[in-house]
Amino acid sequence: MRAMLYDGHSPTLREAEVDDPVAGPGQLLINIAACGVCRTDLHIVDGELAHPRLPLIPGHEVVGRVAAVGPGVEGYFSVGDRVGVPWMGRACGNCQYCLREQENLCDAPAFTGYTLNGGYAERIVADSHFCLHIPYGYTDTDAAPLLCAGLIGYRALCMAGRAKRLGIYGFGAAAHIVMQLARRQRRTVFAFTRPGDIPAQQLALCLGAEWAGSSEERAPDELDAALIFAPVGELVPMALRSVCKGGVVVCGGIHMSDIPSFPYALLWGERRIVSVANLTRSDGMAFMQHASDVLFKIRTQVYPLAEANRALADLRDGHVTGAAVLQVGQHNQFAASGSLRADH
Ligand SMILES: [Zn+2]
Ligand SMILES: [Zn+2]
Repeated sequence: MRAMLYDGHSPTLREAEVDDPVAGPGQLLINIAACGVCRTDLHIVDGELAHPRLPLIPGHEVVGRVAAVGPGVEGYFSVGDRVGVPWMGRACGNCQYCLREQENLCDAPAFTGYTLNGGYAERIVADSHFCLHIPYGYTDTDAAPLLCAGLIGYRALCMAGRAKRLGIYGFGAAAHIVMQLARRQRRTVFAFTRPGDIPAQQLALCLGAEWAGSSEERAPDELDAALIFAPVGELVPMALRSVCKGGVVVCGGIHMSDIPSFPYALLWGERRIVSVANLTRSDGMAFMQHASDVLFKIRTQVYPLAEANRALADLRDGHVTGAAVLQVGQHNQFAASGSLRADH
């Protein structure tokens, strides 16, 4: 099959022909239709995350159709089903975290497109326990960003509790999805973008933000919670300055530059800073139900698989509004014979 490979030396991926994967016990073989391009993929190819599998097929927002079911997969998935593969690819099932259903914190996890091969390819095998059915109403390319941007955004929003006035810092793929859920929950959203990123500010206003502006500006109102999706440590004290007593600052990224020191007075008043790590299976199911109920409007910039390097460069340079998505072989649209397809 065709795949884009990261060799570990350079951030530029290499197009290659590699062996087709085979579904082992508990796994699904999936013909890939689309794969989102996430900021985490940039952190991996830039060498900011240690010990990736090498060579690696990146990509952890995978949408495709089940082509074969490995031994021992229970009846939840059949050939032809449209499914998604998220970042969390496997958990050990035995550590203290797995035993209390916090498998997102597993001591021996495996991650799609990082320690396992991912979705910048024509096919993938994935542990069926972590695969998710994709709701109707989304094209393959629109569904891809749900698998990480949507899921991590959702977990970050849950950590904001009942916060009514919500600040979102870094208005990319995750923010534009999660703010639609926040608006549905009647929260007020203030969107903070890179200085001068007018397209992102316009997108935020168009999706119902009360206010959109530069992350260097002070919020026009006090915030009950701030979600930070940009990998910029300086935003943490800035967000703390804007949250009210008892408020929370949620850091949604896997990697962030160092947080500068700040006076304790910013944290005083029972303000909290928390991070979001990965996601649980129950997060995945709950979020896909929301995705089905709300029918999020997804803004994508679509690239052919072979142009993954251009997609990564555009994301790095801030030239993506919404989510970048790779489209893989349109023939896959017609490959499935199952009944759960959602065609548009
Ligand atoms: Zn574990
Ligand atoms: Zn991601």
